[in-house]
Amino acid sequence: MTKVLVVGGGVGGPVAAAALHRAGLEPVIYEAHSGPGDGLGAFLTLAPNGLAALKTVGLLERVRAAASFATTRIEFVNGSGRRLGLLGGEEKVPAELRSVTVNRAALQRAVTEGAAEQGVRLEYGKRFTSYAESDSAVIAEFADGTTASGQVLVGADGIHSAVRGVMSPDAPDPRYIGLLGIGGYSPALDLPPTPEETTRMVFGKRAFFGYQTAPSGEVFWFANLGNSELSREEIASYGDAAWKERALELFRDDLPEITTIMEAADPSDFRPQGIHDLASLPRWHRGRVALLGDAAHAVSPSSGQGASMAFEDALELARGLRDTDKVPTALAAYENARRDRVERIVAVGRKRGAQKAGSSNPAALKLRDLSMRVAFSLIRRFGSQRWITEYRVEFENSLV
Ligand SMILES: Cc1cc2nc3c(=O)[nH]c(=O)nc-3n(C[C@H](O)[C@H](O)[C@H](O)COP(=O)(O)OP(=O)(O)OC[C@H]3O[C@@H](n4cnc5c(N)ncnc54)[C@H](O)[C@@H]3O)c2cc1C
Repeated sequence: MTKVLVVGGGVGGPVAAAALHRAGLEPVIYEAHSGPGDGLGAFLTLAPNGLAALKTVGLLERVRAAASFATTRIEFVNGSGRRLGLLGGEEKVPAELRSVTVNRAALQRAVTEGAAEQGVRLEYGKRFTSYAESDSAVIAEFADGTTASGQVLVGADGIHSAVRGVMSPDAPDPRYIGLLGIGGYSPALDLPPTPEETTRMVFGKRAFFGYQTAPSGEVFWFANLGNSELSREEIASYGDAAWKERALELFRDDLPEITTIMEAADPSDFRPQGIHDLASLPRWHRGRVALLGDAAHAVSPSSGQGASMAFEDALELARGLRDTDKVPTALAAYENARRDRVERIVAVGRKRGAQKAGSSNPAALKLRDLSMRVAFSLIRRFGSQRWITEYRVEFENSLV
């Protein structure tokens, strides 16, 4: 049986392993951390296309059970609360595939436990450092001095992928998109809840804010702040309390709910992370090695599609390896099936992200609001984002 070494037990790795197992291969996951639950960002939203991919590999029920609530609509408003658009309304989508918001740690647990239940082996505390390849095998090396041998190596190790660094040392680095991300959970507050199943996104005067009230009353929130790129050390040295002050100041002239939500949040929620994307790599595979998820193509969080793209990748990769014994042929078919779609979605994320930093010029804000209203009404009228969420990988059909 073909053994596949999957580096990374985050979001995409376990789903890839489940798909490979279903396709008759023998995947083993090697994760650097000591258990599930470490990662960027407090929570994320999974779209119908991603949920459909999870269904194909038998992980949908677990993930839906781990989800915090449904998010089938997004209401966009400006800093004064004036509505710019309403997207979503997934009435025509089968109930099981309607978008949900899930805590990242809960998602990782759901997919890793689900994959393990299906028979996938997972080893924690295995930080990949390098690999060597022969005509018939690939050997992965880990920081603890151990090695593992298989016929294929999959780098599902995230945006700063070590596998990519070894496979393609000349690959471009992820690009900082000019935004810092913060966010977390605030306790139940004396505020009107967001409309049912709806995230409210606020294009503020100087920054961007999103929030949704959970059925428990707890508020899930995040914000994007325009800033030049900062190192981890620079972010840490500023201090969480100072970041909180800074965020409160940026939203001072916007909806008062934002201040109420943020004031109730823990200062550690304000320690930002730089947001990056990775638009186009010269190659996604070389020899017996392939990249998947953020390692191959990081889409900005503004697209709400990063995890769903990793799940779709997982199915296509497994399809390719199922359909031919020739590893390079399978990996080329995988890249061919995925590249155009994900690169279009990276472009969508970039475009959305560009509007988030606000402006000190009131005329520019007015123009932004107007163009947003036009754009959202066109999307609503012509369903022009459906190519993203209605996409389904035809796992049962042959790829090669
Ligand atoms: C703030 C924020 C909000 C987001 N919101 C959304 C959203 O709403 N919807 C959405 O679909 N996407 C969202 N995304 C994007 C989404 O999180 C990613 O696209 C997704 O996590 C990619 O999955 P992955 O498995 O490729 O990488 P990851 O989830 O990053 O997993 C990589 C794994 O590899 C492990 N690893 C790293 N290096 C090594 C190594 N050397 N050896 C072994 N293991 C290693 C890591 O520990 C980790 O477990 C968001 C991202 C951010 C930053």
